[in-house]
Amino acid sequence: MSKGIHETTPLRPMADGEALQWLVAFAQQDLDRTESPGAWVDIGWNLARLFNEVEWSAPEDRVQIKKAQAAIRSVLEKLSREGDTYCEGASIGTRSAERKDGKLHVGYQSGHLELNVVDIVLRLLARINLDRLGRCKRCEAIFLGETGQLYCGKQCANAAAAGAYRKRKRSAINEKARTEYEKQQRKQLNPNVRVGRKRKET
Ligand SMILES: [Zn+2]
Repeated sequence: MSKGIHETTPLRPMADGEALQWLVAFAQQDLDRTESPGAWVDIGWNLARLFNEVEWSAPEDRVQIKKAQAAIRSVLEKLSREGDTYCEGASIGTRSAERKDGKLHVGYQSGHLELNVVDIVLRLLARINLDRLGRCKRCEAIFLGETGQLYCGKQCANAAAAGAYRKRKRSAINEKARTEYEKQQRKQLNPNVRVGRKRKET
């Protein structure tokens, strides 16, 4: 893709839903392993579309892109679960956000905060229903899924289910062993002895 395309094609702003999808994917993209120059140009292009309101002077600049990614990831990580809050204070003001009932409530205090990536992302998120935005309970990945979905995908859901099954099985075995032990103790001592329970391992 040449520079000419950027100059001659007007930026088509991203629709909100598309933007959220792109942000979630971009926030978790391994940029250190992104080698194709075309992929970087695409990222710069999409950032420019997303941040239409600010001058994105050098979309191909990798340092800038990495900074933007870190800021976006931080916002999404802090707001990817219902009830999450985001708060950042600076000498010139404080910005905060709270996710409640699938909506983001953004607030500013005594701010003439610089317009930056975080503000644009917060303002964007405040327009979007966040029900589908979640954070995996197992691997911590940020994802877009169904309302109330707990895991990022089948792999994590299956692994969590298998873990829960093993735990249940283990405690059933422990329970059986304890009953046996109690029976033995009763026989040896007297029939009314109560055996203290071992502290449950966590
Ligand atoms: Zn996961």
